Amino acid sequence: MTYDSDNIFAKILRGEIPCHRVYEDEQTLVFMDIMPRADGHMLVIPKTPCRNLLDADAAQLAAVMMTAQKVANVAMGVFAADGVTVQQFNEAAGGQEVFHLHFHILPRRTGDALRPPGIMADPDMLAEQAARLRAAVTAA
Ligand code: 5GP
Repeated sequence: MTYDSDNIFAKILRGEIPCHRVYEDEQTLVFMDIMPRADGHMLVIPKTPCRNLLDADAAQLAAVMMTAQKVANVAMGVFAADGVTVQQFNEAAGGQEVFHLHFHILPRRTGDALRPPGIMADPDMLAEQAARLRAAVTAA
């Protein structure tokens, strides 16, 4: 399996399509999932190419996991969450739809189910949530 540089997250990294950015450092980018399954649903990606967990190198995995921990902790506060679900899918048979490594960060409240997949969010709501998360990451 090879990396396709035309995947949607590669286009986001190149600035060819927009996203609601939450956080970035030299090696990683975090932005809002456009079809969130929970309030505050974010995606954490490496800035360098790899399809998924199966071909990522140690540096990519380390960077992505450190960023995932950072934004998960921030989301706990911003969304008054009781927990966080982290999801990651590999290849189509494993449930992957976008072939650039990403981790889903899903703030969870006790008793709340995840929303069904495939429902586009209101862009204004995503912008507002991203702004709250950005402010909290900066303050952390
Ligand atoms: P997965 O590959 O982990 O199964 O799912 C890909 C995720 O990317 C889905 O949760 C989907 O909502 C999200 N997604 C797909 N296209 C876009 C996009 O253009 N922008 C953003 N922000 N998220 C996207």
